[in-house]
Amino acid sequence: MKLRKTAASAAVVLALAATAACGGKDGSAGDEQGGKTDKKALPTYKVAENVDVDSPVVKKAQKRGTLVIGAKADQPYLGFQDQSTKEYSGFDIEVAKMVAADLGFSPKKIKWETVDSNAREQAVRKGDVDLMIGTYTINDERKKQIDFAGPYYDAGASLLVRKDEKDITGPDTVKGKKVCSIVGSTPLQTIKESKYGAKVTELAKYSDCVKQLIDGQVDAVTTDDAILMGYAADNPKKLKVVGDTFSEEPYGVGLKKGDKALQKAVADALEAHQENGDYKKAFEATLGKSGSDFEEPPALQEK
Ligand code: GLU
Repeated sequence: MKLRKTAASAAVVLALAATAACGGKDGSAGDEQGGKTDKKALPTYKVAENVDVDSPVVKKAQKRGTLVIGAKADQPYLGFQDQSTKEYSGFDIEVAKMVAADLGFSPKKIKWETVDSNAREQAVRKGDVDLMIGTYTINDERKKQIDFAGPYYDAGASLLVRKDEKDITGPDTVKGKKVCSIVGSTPLQTIKESKYGAKVTELAKYSDCVKQLIDGQVDAVTTDDAILMGYAADNPKKLKVVGDTFSEEPYGVGLKKGDKALQKAVADALEAHQENGDYKKAFEATLGKSGSDFEEPPALQEK
């Protein structure tokens, strides 16, 4: 299990605090801004031509002329939709653009669909989305319903608390505390384990949990460190992430079960963009700006 490098992260978050502006664009969680992607530093991805992948999903997308990608809309620096421009930004969005480019779809040919955590397997199974790319932990339970390509990033469950919180310092200090997490997410399952003794609130959206935390209705929010650090970076005066990670959350690209050609094409795309440096550049222009440290991507296991 990885341990967060808190010293480096704290320094970046402090630097962000100095420049952070107030006034959330979606008006949902304090001075949330949705993450500051360094647009100029983002790579552009060469769009492949004459792509011939023996995948029913790809063939259908080619016919349609668009690739439908399921994404998150309320995870600053990872998958975030600006409510005024409707534009999506963040690391997962860049990963999606890389994969789409290798399948022959330019960013303009991507149709984004916001899919909440508890709706992901169904969206992939029903074919509502061609690929699901949104902080999606690969696990055996989900693999009964869909396949994954990846992992492309290793996250781990952590805790977000108010800046003045003294009692909650890690998972062994949440006994009797009100902790919010998200329906259909793996960290919700983890925090419900009786050994933690937390009083758990289950909501559909991360922004709703964060709002409850800022308003004092809950004492902590738990989910992946990468997500929580984004919220802390956007609300530096109000929120902080505490303790080390306490679960393993390897992120994969969700796709239709049994579509081996698509799985391989996505895995090949991930590998190619990791090797040519796009992945690191994209990370640094997005998630890296929230204080998450760059780490070499994990070895691909689902391919
Ligand atoms: N990675 C975790 C999961 O897949 C939590 C993040 C999320 O809800 O997307 O359930």
